Amino acid sequence: MPQANSYDVVVIGAGSIGCSTADHLADDYDVLVLEKGKLEESASANASAFISDWWFFLEGEHIPGVAVKVRDYFEELSATGDFEFHAQPFISLVDEDEAGSPETRKMRKNVKKIPGIEYFDVDELAESYPDVLNLEGFVGGIVDTEAGYVKPRPYLRAMKERAERKGAEFEFGTEVTGIETETGSVTGVTMAPGDLVQCDSVVVAAGTHTESLVAEFTDLPVQPFVICAAAVRGDPAFSGSVPTTSGRGTLIGPNADGDLLVGDEYWIEDLDSIPRDFPKEAQEKVAELLPQLFTGFDGGLEYVDGGEHHCPEGITITPDQVPVIDEVGDVDGLVVADGSRGAVSLAPVIAVAVQSILTGTETEFSLDRFAIDRFDLEDPEYDLPMITEPRS
Ligand SMILES: Cc1cc2nc3c(=O)[nH]c(=O)nc-3n(C[C@H](O)[C@H](O)[C@H](O)COP(=O)(O)OP(=O)(O)OC[C@H]3O[C@@H](n4cnc5c(N)ncnc54)[C@H](O)[C@@H]3O)c2cc1C
Repeated sequence: MPQANSYDVVVIGAGSIGCSTADHLADDYDVLVLEKGKLEESASANASAFISDWWFFLEGEHIPGVAVKVRDYFEELSATGDFEFHAQPFISLVDEDEAGSPETRKMRKNVKKIPGIEYFDVDELAESYPDVLNLEGFVGGIVDTEAGYVKPRPYLRAMKERAERKGAEFEFGTEVTGIETETGSVTGVTMAPGDLVQCDSVVVAAGTHTESLVAEFTDLPVQPFVICAAAVRGDPAFSGSVPTTSGRGTLIGPNADGDLLVGDEYWIEDLDSIPRDFPKEAQEKVAELLPQLFTGFDGGLEYVDGGEHHCPEGITITPDQVPVIDEVGDVDGLVVADGSRGAVSLAPVIAVAVQSILTGTETEFSLDRFAIDRFDLEDPEYDLPMITEPRS
């Protein structure tokens, strides 16, 4: 049971967004984080945890200050507890076919605005990463020279412990079943089996459960999405330092155990169809793409732990893959933060936006970018665009 029966802010969910939000708010508020499971069970805890400005890499979306805030937060947190930020460049390779696309052109233009992110042509890439990248068919790459990767569980623990040192409280194994309001303001949350905690504000950072928790107040423009990852060892083993590299629809990079993480992603119709292992289709895709991206890889792959148990959670994302961070349903004090790709990396920025909504303080970026009403939910034609056909 929580120690008190009243808090300034209750955060629902101890994933990366919930933990970072608690870390940011605990300086000024009495914060209680309620988590239905354990710290190790969220999507965040099971992510690949490559750290970069994902919103930019998705489509060249440039939101001022994001890349720098992400780097500063990880470096600063790295000095606490047993958490370590491993610096490693992130390369998004540009295929010949994509070179003239509007997305690539936008990204190359925006690169100039972001310190630490650069465009390398193919010769510069070959010179910077000799004997690692197979650059056949690529014209260049956008490189985040200050990106990195982390172990996700120590990362969550580091944020939680720092928030606790500032006075935040965490309750695990406690599911929130309802959000209480009175005359347009939040008054508290109910927990199974019916206990009530009073509070002035609620931040809903409950991942795939966020949509249903706020359904009585608003429709969230999010849809279930699978990101799955598995660790592989090469045969022959990789030589040299492998940068985190995306290209031709896959993402591959090192992890802190010395293996390579390989990934796949796709929309799904419903959360029940999240795979429990690394799907066969994904294994085939990775086996085909690895030698196309890297030299010294002739296709022999050994999946660590048989490739199982690496996609236990789906995530929910918005059509533009940038989150909704907004006060919902005209209810004072009810803030939602969900729908982002890459929220392990971007949680510190999302937390700043949540903090700004609750305190009214200015941010470097406009919060309009995260408003729910940027999508027209009243439009009968409204539907979520699919990056790929959903798999059942
Ligand atoms: C395999 C994989 C690889 C990924 N790789 C990367 C990567 O390399 N880099 C990156 O930045 N991102 C990556 N992501 C994406 C990232 O994991 C998500 O964007 C992020 O985890 C979302 O964080 P969150 O805090 O919103 O949700 P979650 O991490 O899902 O946390 C939500 C929490 O809320 C709790 N909860 C739900 N309902 C309730 C309730 N009613 N009461 C109390 N608690 C509740 C849940 O138990 C959960 O712990 C990856 C995701 C996956 C699955």
